[in-house]
Amino acid sequence: MRLLDPALAAELVKGHTDIITMEDERTKQFLRGVRCPKCGGATISLVVNQDRPFVTTLVLANRNASCADCNCLFEPYSRVIIKG
Ligand SMILES: [Zn+2]
Repeated sequence: MRLLDPALAAELVKGHTDIITMEDERTKQFLRGVRCPKCGGATISLVVNQDRPFVTTLVLANRNASCADCNCLFEPYSRVIIKG
């Protein structure tokens, strides 16, 4: 894999709306209200969905939520437990 030169990348996106940062902030704000469906814990982090990391409708990588209190893995929007 060859990485794009950061200076060239910055030049290519110049003048375009930064939708990646906006989506990341929106996701972080959503996560503040998410609780673990198994234990009710509030220390939630996101991990890339290894089975389906990219979805065409998502700006960012497809991620699941992980609870730091009980190690439960769940889909953050539906709260369906994937691994608990
Ligand atoms: Zn939990």
